[in-house]
Amino acid sequence: MSKSSFRRDWITKPIFRVAQHALPTLSDTEREAIEAGDVWWDADLFAGNPDWDKLLAFAPARLSDEEKAFLDGPVEEFCAMLDDWRINWEWHDLPPAAWDYLKTRKFFAMIIPKEYGGLGFSAYAHSEIIRKLSSHSLCAAVTAMVPNSLGPGELLIKFGTKAQQDYWLPRLARGEEIPCFGLTSPEAGSDAASMIDSGVVCRGTHEGREVLGIRLNWHKRYITLGPIATVLGLAFKLHDPDHLIGDRDNIGITLALVPTHLPGVSIGRRHLPALHVFQNGPNWGKDVFIPMDNVIGGVDQVGKGWKMLMSALAAGRGISLPSLSAAGASFAANVTGAYARIREQFHVPIAKFEAIQERLARLAATAYLLDAARRMTCAALDEGHHPAVVTAIMKSQATDRMRVSVNDAMDVHGGKGIIEGPLNYLGSLYRGVPIGITVEGANIVTRALIQFGQGAIRSHPYLLKEMMALQDPDRARGLDAFDQAFWGHVGHSIANTCRAFGRAWTGGLFAPAPKAGASARYYRQLSRHASAFALAVDLSLLSLGGGLKRREMISARFGDILSELYLSCAALKRWNDEGRQDDDLPLVEYCMEASFATIETRFDEIIANFPVRPVAWLLRVLIQPFGPRRRGPSDRVMEQCAAIIVDACPARERLTVDLFKSSVAKSGRVDGLSLLEHAFAQTVAVQPIRDRMHDARVRDIEQAVKQRTITAEEAVKLKTAADAVAAAIAVDDFAPEDLTSRSAFTQGDVSSQTTAQNRSAAAE
Ligand SMILES: Cc1cc2nc3c(=O)[nH]c(=O)nc-3n(C[C@H](O)[C@H](O)[C@H](O)COP(=O)(O)OP(=O)(O)OC[C@H]3O[C@@H](n4cnc5c(N)ncnc54)[C@H](O)[C@@H]3O)c2cc1C
Repeated sequence: MSKSSFRRDWITKPIFRVAQHALPTLSDTEREAIEAGDVWWDADLFAGNPDWDKLLAFAPARLSDEEKAFLDGPVEEFCAMLDDWRINWEWHDLPPAAWDYLKTRKFFAMIIPKEYGGLGFSAYAHSEIIRKLSSHSLCAAVTAMVPNSLGPGELLIKFGTKAQQDYWLPRLARGEEIPCFGLTSPEAGSDAASMIDSGVVCRGTHEGREVLGIRLNWHKRYITLGPIATVLGLAFKLHDPDHLIGDRDNIGITLALVPTHLPGVSIGRRHLPALHVFQNGPNWGKDVFIPMDNVIGGVDQVGKGWKMLMSALAAGRGISLPSLSAAGASFAANVTGAYARIREQFHVPIAKFEAIQERLARLAATAYLLDAARRMTCAALDEGHHPAVVTAIMKSQATDRMRVSVNDAMDVHGGKGIIEGPLNYLGSLYRGVPIGITVEGANIVTRALIQFGQGAIRSHPYLLKEMMALQDPDRARGLDAFDQAFWGHVGHSIANTCRAFGRAWTGGLFAPAPKAGASARYYRQLSRHASAFALAVDLSLLSLGGGLKRREMISARFGDILSELYLSCAALKRWNDEGRQDDDLPLVEYCMEASFATIETRFDEIIANFPVRPVAWLLRVLIQPFGPRRRGPSDRVMEQCAAIIVDACPARERLTVDLFKSSVAKSGRVDGLSLLEHAFAQTVAVQPIRDRMHDARVRDIEQAVKQRTITAEEAVKLKTAADAVAAAIAVDDFAPEDLTSRSAFTQGDVSSQTTAQNRSAAAE
């Protein structure tokens, strides 16, 4: 007997038997979610020893000339057309000219390949476009976003038959069809796979001919673009009781295209998501017949809908909402920095108060971090990766952090942020925050189950291989595969234990770091935390096995650590890719120190709450012998970060680059944002004059002219700047009659239907 077969038969085999009960088992939907997409930098983090040279060698995301021209041309032009206040509060929709522009300039066809008449843009270009739109009108951004993310277009590109692609993609590219995607139903939200919407295989009449098809009954809600969609991508459970297409009764989740003009389809009613007016609403169908050809991918793809959805989401989740959120964070930093500079209380700009600086610093650092992570993730997508765990991290972290930024912006603006009207540039974003948090996987469930739960299996170097081996119906083959994976895992764990222990006890002093100038020390800490993470994950899986899945609080903390590691890597890479700008170092330091404090606190919480106490004690000794020690960014760093967004400096430019900057010249009308930009520029310009007055201890302009501290010309400049500030800090007020409703939404006789009414309408 060879050495290797002795190991397999006498040592691995008993472990194999025990592991079959201990390791988490996967449901079909979980397996399909885990198999969707691939792994990328997350795998390096899970392995516990990230290769920093590899990270820095990833090519940064870049726009082609054509993409740049589109961003600077049609996207700018489109933004300038939009009056977000009137869209939201008067028209309750985009105006017809905006709809036409979106369709004819192919905003709905960013991901459709050129051969079908689309723009065929990269993930990064798609992201930049959504980012710019989001910085001006959430309604426009969401409207443009949906046809380019999970929905008929993407599903057809990935899984459609040639005939379906040839028919539908050019129509979608030309804007002749408006798509939407219906997955969520009243009963099935986060647990979307539990839907009761059904399709039954049967024969029926379509366009005058008897064909094999599906009779559908469904009730969906919350469907974006649903009320005006001409084609609905529908997820339902397919049944084949007469075995017309195979021998299974219950075929499973299937995706099909349903033209919304078909008899039995009810569509058109609208929801008002947080009083936003992008098209969103319920729809339902009663005995709607579609031919089998309408199943996305044809009859070969029946029952594979969940896998298709997960696969599409693996990439898409990393683009739309992270771009919207990164835009929200940059926008919040931009306007709040400017406002804190122009708004004075107690005779000083509020930006001078330390308590305000604390918020400004967080705003600046969050804008830096989210945009770094957005760019790095888009670069990975453009290189052909579909990293499902990374995109889930991006979706939940970006939307959550945008909420913090928007709240900071509101708090610093005080009443100016709260009073609604055309002069308010924050209210719409504030109302929009929970939308991003809820859609594409509500954040609580994403944090607790997906970021780490799927990551632990998907991105771990050995676990998925072990689980697949354990579930292999061919036991001999399974044992062989398990033997290989298990002993690889053991070697990996021993190496990791030594690494984690050594790095924890030396404070990461000798941990690996690339030659990265002033940022090298942060890489050492990340190396330290990555090895601690990998070891803690292994010990948790070993001691809790499948039970870890139910320990959502523990999993969520692991998810936070993984997210912090990923986002920190992105911030360091951004600094490197942008030529290691000294002025940006405080932002990097803020991001790193905040991240290390969170990582250390989460490790401490995991150890304090870990249910198997001996493992907790072991973890304490191995990875955190001295407890959490990092306290977050220092006051000095916060002051420096705050200064970046209250000064007109290159670092501020880098933070806000390519946002839509409103101006009267661009849009032909005065709005809150253009007034703020103007007042900020004026305030910065007259600062040297004000400094002279300050040094001469004179506040009154006339007095300053009289005593020749400033010239008469400078006095005019000061008055002009003061007028600009007065205009920018103004808020709206309305005559009572302006607020008596002429709107369809607020009239007393408007009828609102409930889910129950919709359900009974669907059943009638
Ligand atoms: C404005 C808007 C637009 C949308 N657009 C579309 C669309 O175009 N197409 C479409 O199909 N759907 C769409 N949705 C639906 C969206 O994806 C769902 O709202 C989302 O999946 C959550 O479902 P739910 O709202 O029913 O919340 P629920 O599933 O009821 O969840 C409630 C809470 O419980 C938490 N939770 C659930 N399960 C767990 C768990 N196991 N562990 C911990 N926490 C858990 C959730 O995180 C959430 O916080 C949209 C929703 C909104 C609000």
